[in-house]
Parts: sequence; structure tokens; C-alpha cells
Amino acid sequence: MSDIESAHTLSEPGALGPADSIPLCVPALRGNERAYVDEALQTNWISSVGPFVDRFEREAAAHVGATHGVATTSGTAALHVGLLLARVEPGDAVLVSTLAFVAPANAVRYVGAHPIFVDAEPDYWQLDADKLAHFLAHECRLGSGGLIDRTTGRRVRAILPVHILGHPVDLDPVLELAARYGLAVVEDAAESFGARYRSSEVGAYGGLGCLSFNGNKLVTAGGGGMIVTNDESLARRARYLTTQAKDDPIGYVHREIGFNYRLSNVQAAIGCAQLEQVDSLVAAKRRVAARYADAFAPIRGLEFMREASWATSACWLSTLLVDPDVHEGGRERLRLALLLNGIQSRPLWQPLHLSPAHAGARATDCREAERIGGRGLSLPSSVSLSSCDQQHVIDAVLKELER
Ligand SMILES: *Cc1c(COP(=O)(O)O)cnc(C)c1O
Repeated sequence: MSDIESAHTLSEPGALGPADSIPLCVPALRGNERAYVDEALQTNWISSVGPFVDRFEREAAAHVGATHGVATTSGTAALHVGLLLARVEPGDAVLVSTLAFVAPANAVRYVGAHPIFVDAEPDYWQLDADKLAHFLAHECRLGSGGLIDRTTGRRVRAILPVHILGHPVDLDPVLELAARYGLAVVEDAAESFGARYRSSEVGAYGGLGCLSFNGNKLVTAGGGGMIVTNDESLARRARYLTTQAKDDPIGYVHREIGFNYRLSNVQAAIGCAQLEQVDSLVAAKRRVAARYADAFAPIRGLEFMREASWATSACWLSTLLVDPDVHEGGRERLRLALLLNGIQSRPLWQPLHLSPAHAGARATDCREAERIGGRGLSLPSSVSLSSCDQQHVIDAVLKELER
């Protein structure tokens, strides 16, 4: 498995090590998941409409402070439709965080647009608004059709900030730049459901947000996603595009190319049961992160993820950076040592401006993303991680780094 792939694969105990290995991140189905799935099966609502879909849309949107939610088959599908809703057109450019999972950049390509990758800031590893501002001011010009990238001549249409690892992007300056330059904002909150930026949950700040309910995300539906917005007409259009753009409910009349992107009622049933537990899920993730942070604070050459004063992180995946100048062999050596101890960990993603799949894309100077991406390792972060198992992880990290 590649790093990117495995970091987003549901870890199965025993899949990568001894049978008693500690997985990276597995779901905890401790609530009404089974009861609600049974209800969906017994009532014969198993497909793309049903009471759990309606409830899931209502409650997930409400949780992030949005008035509308449109459930989708995946977070990637939500991003695809989100970019269409933002009127990104073929040949346009979209500014995207480079230190992120590949899905948002791929979604930009699905609509025929081109990503421009933006570096991460060094403190919380999120999209760097200063570098974004610099790019907009110095690499673009205002033309008759909007903002134009001087180098490629492409119209810059939107910003796609990705809240990574459970922590929010500093959104105020991003939203201010978007307003100043007339750009749409599509938030990727797939990894940060339950996180707060200043006083509100992330997802609905920029007008359009995308969520994921993949198996390894904080709230899971087995798989699934959602577009959230406060704009009723955007929500209506999202529903239209995700249901094959049906213009006539009886005749098969379609004025546009639509998609079959609707979430099933069975999956929504799991999602509803998970949502009932969201506060305890976030609390468990934060507890795991706090224990790691305490244990690792004294270690030289180890930087554990931090939380900004303006943020409440959902601490989705507890992640540390290993300084290879202090610890010979760096992150990879630690990863292998953990594996020998039956502990699954995952390197952070290859920054997207270095991804062969996006070769040739425009980018700001991305040296921070390269530093963080090259040093980052995510540790076991399941909400069900026992303190005993976590101590085993901590001991193994300390033993390796204190050698
Ligand atoms: C998981 C993830 C997605 C995609 O969600 P899927 O439901 O797996 O399609 C998008 N963006 C980010 C940042 C993610 O981590």
C-alpha cells in the first residue's frame, strides 16, 4: 500500500502486524448503529432516499451551523459537486492546500480546473494565508473576467482550504482575501468535523463546505459525505446535481449532466447513530491527543501538533514531527520501530505539489509543507484507544527517540 492510500484505509487489527497490533484509527460503534440499520432494513428503506437520510442531513448540517445539508456517496463526491456549485469552470484555477489528502486536488481536476497549491504555515500546519495573499497580490492581475493568474492566463475562481488533522485553518484572513478578490470559498472539513474556529464549527464559514463520513473519519457512516451551506438555492442545486439532474420527476428529462451521488438510507442510519455520540467522540480524540502532548513535551527534536488559541481542534489524527537532524533516520525509523512493537502509524501525505498525479501544477513556495510532510507521523488515534494501549505507544516512541 502507498502511504497516501494506507493513511486513508480503515485499519484492520492484524492487517499490518501481529494479531494484537494497535491500529491507527478504527471506528467505535457503541451506540444505536445496529438498531438504526435494522430499522432501515425492516422498513425496506435501503436505498438513496429515506428517513435516516433526511435526519442525517438535518442533524449533520445543524452540527456545523449550516441550514442545509445534502448527503453524498463520499466526501470526494461532495467536493466535486461543491466546486460545480462554486461555478468553477473548465480551464479555471483553484487555490488548494498542498499539505492535504489528495481528494480536494483531484476534485479540482474532475471539473476540468487546475489546482494552485498553497503552502502550510509552520505552527498548526494549515493553509498559509500570508502566502495565499502574496500569490494573489503578486502573481495575479484583475482582468475583465475576474482574477487572472499572470503566468498561465487562467481565471482564478475559488479557494479550497483544507482543515487538516482535525484542526481548523485560520479562516478570517482567507475569507477576507476571497471577498477582496471575488473568489468563492469551498471548505474541505472532511478531517475536522467537530472542530471549532473561533466561536463556530468549521464547514459553513465560507458559504460552502464539504464533509466526509468515511470509515476512518471522526463521525462515520461507513462511507459518505455531505455538502453543507446556508444558501437554499445552492442546496437545491446540490440535490439536483447529485440525483442525475432530473428536471421532470416522471419523464426522463435532464437539462444538465448530473451524477448519481446520493447516500443510502442504510449508511445514513449508521451516520445518525454516530452523530448522537459526536461530543463524546471529539472528547475522546482530544483526550488521546492531550496524553500524547504531555508525554512528548520534554523530547528534543519531536514536535507534537498544537492547537491555536482561536481553535478547538477535533484532534482527528494525533500527529508528531520527528526532526531528522536530532533523531537519525527520522520519521521512517520511528515508524519501523513502532511496527516491530505491533503499533501502526502513518507518514503524513506527500505534499500535493510533489504528487506525480498533479505534476506541473502551479504552487507557492511550499517549503513548510515539505518540512512537515517529510517529518510527520500519525499515531494510533482511535476513540476506543485504551490508556493502557496508548501508554504502550508512548513508551515505544520514547524508547526509540531516547536511544
Ligand atoms: C477523507 C478526505 C476526503 C475525502 O473523503 P472520502 O469520503 O474518503 O471521499 C477529502 N478531503 C480530505 C482532507 C480527507 O481527509
